Amino acid sequence: MTPLLQVRGLTRSFGGVRAVDDVSFDLGHGELLALIGPNGAGKSTCFNMINGQLRADAGDVLLEGEIITSKKPRDIWRLGVGRTFQIAATFHSMTVIENVQMALISHAKRTFRAWRPATAHFRDEAHALLAQVGMETHADRPSSVLAYGDVKRIELAIALANKPKLLLMDEPTAGMAPRERNELMALTKRLVTTNKIGVLFTEHSMDVVFAFADRMIVLARGKLIAEGSGEAVRADPKVREVYFGSGRTVAQHVPG
Ligand code: ADP
Ligand code: MG
Repeated sequence: MTPLLQVRGLTRSFGGVRAVDDVSFDLGHGELLALIGPNGAGKSTCFNMINGQLRADAGDVLLEGEIITSKKPRDIWRLGVGRTFQIAATFHSMTVIENVQMALISHAKRTFRAWRPATAHFRDEAHALLAQVGMETHADRPSSVLAYGDVKRIELAIALANKPKLLLMDEPTAGMAPRERNELMALTKRLVTTNKIGVLFTEHSMDVVFAFADRMIVLARGKLIAEGSGEAVRADPKVREVYFGSGRTVAQHVPG
C-alpha cells in the first residue's frame, strides 16, 4: 500500500545553513508520527515545505503517491493536508459554532465548487464536530471568552472540518500545562484513529511523545539521525549523543 506521505531527500538552506538536509521518511494512513529534535534542528522548515509555504531546494513530497512539492499551500490543503493552530483573524469575532460552520462552508466551496448550494449552513455538522471535541455546550459562546485549552479544541474541530487525510501539527501544545498537553494529545489521538487521519507533530515534552506517538523520527542540524519506536530511539547512541547529550536521560524534558 502506498504510504499516505512520502518525503524524499527534502533539502532547504538559508544562506549557508542547511536547515533541512536530505531528509526522507514515510508516514502511514492513520499513523501518529512525532518529529523531534533540538531547537533549530529543522522541524518547522520541514513542516513548511510539506504544506507548501516554503519552497524546497531539492527533494520531493508525495501525498498518496502524488508529487505535491512546489504546489501552492491552498492546493495542498485542498488535497487533504490540514494544519492546526492557525486561527483566522476573524476567530474572536465569531461564536464557537460560527467558526466551525465557516470552516465547513469553506471546505464545501473548495471541494464541490459551484454546484454546492450556497445556502448550506452546516449547523448539524458543526454541532457534531463540536461534540467530537467535547465542546458542544459551548456552541453559542463568543470565541473570545474561551479558555486557552478550549481554543485548542476548537482549532482541532476546525481542522477536522476540512476532512484532512494528513494533519500537520507543529508544536500543538505550546504554552499548555502538562495536564492540558496530555488531554489535547489524547483527544487528537482518539479523533485521528477514528477518522483514519495521519498526523505529523512536533512536541517538546518527551512524556507526551512517548505516550502518544506510534513512531518517531529525530532531526539534528537538519539531518534525520534516527527513526523508530520510542524504545528504539531512546536506545539509539546517535540520539543520545547528538540530541540527549550532557548527561540527561531521554525521558526528561527536552528544550527546543
Ligand atoms: P526547529 O523548528 O526544529 O526549531 P527551524 O526549522 O525553525 O528549526 O530552523 C532550522 C534552522 O533554519 C535554524 O538554524 C534557523 O535559524 C534557520 N531558519 C529557519 N527559518 C529561517 C528563515 N526564514 N530564514 C533564515 N533562517 C531560517
Ligand atoms: Mg519549530
